[in-house]
Amino acid sequence: MKKKNLWFALLTMILAAVVLGACGSEDKEKEKDSGKNALDTVKKQDKIVWGVKNDTRLFGLKNPTTGDIEGFDIDMAKALTKEILGDESKAEFKEVTSKTRIPLLQKGDINAIIATMTITEERKKEVDFSDVYFEAGQSLLVKKGSSIKSIDDIKKGTKVLAVKGSTSAVNIREKAPEATVLEFENYAEAFTALKSGQGDTLTTDNAILYGMADEDSNYEVVGDTFTDEPYGIAVKKDSPEFIAEINKALKTLKDNGTYDEIYKKWIKE
Ligand code: GLU
Repeated sequence: MKKKNLWFALLTMILAAVVLGACGSEDKEKEKDSGKNALDTVKKQDKIVWGVKNDTRLFGLKNPTTGDIEGFDIDMAKALTKEILGDESKAEFKEVTSKTRIPLLQKGDINAIIATMTITEERKKEVDFSDVYFEAGQSLLVKKGSSIKSIDDIKKGTKVLAVKGSTSAVNIREKAPEATVLEFENYAEAFTALKSGQGDTLTTDNAILYGMADEDSNYEVVGDTFTDEPYGIAVKKDSPEFIAEINKALKTLKDNGTYDEIYKKWIKE
């Protein structure tokens, strides 16, 4: 009988430990989930982990020789990190795509997104945005000599290539409802698909398309932009302090000429 009681007590203790342990880790998860401490978190860890594109020329492109990621978004992230934490080497980079960037932020894998991301009302329900740091607009990329010269030439049966999770994929269905839209995981895949003849045109922001035309002169950007795509830096929802700090840093970079320098380095058009 005594032995039985002992076993029972032991079992209860183990159970209690398991339950308490689970609560503890749940709390930690919750803390991670709330954006309230986002600025404290980056200060404590003494680095900012930025979600950036790795396949988008001019904004975030991995250099296969050096392994470094290069572009406008990358230089902006480094300059902002220097303003916020005092040293640009405290900027760390993790690859995101249009589809993965918000989930990776929510999971706590990255502290901020700087990845050709348009500020939209829809996205504002999920994340907080900084002030606008770049103005783009959606356009079309075609093979030179294509009969498509603008969005008006997209007819029933025209195959338009776009990327999952982008505003471009949503907008094109609205602006050219007759089009057949094919969606890819990222811009490298979409451009490869255009080159291999899987579609008639690729659509996204003009600034990204210029990067592709830059890479392969057989392709050109046609027509005017047909949407406004103001880029913002995104952080977890309810991070007013972190956003204030980012906006303050952005203003400093604009006032002291760093922003113009970075802009001129990458953006020619
Ligand atoms: N700026 C657009 C967006 O945020 C298109 C570029 C991208 O897919 O990142 O969706």
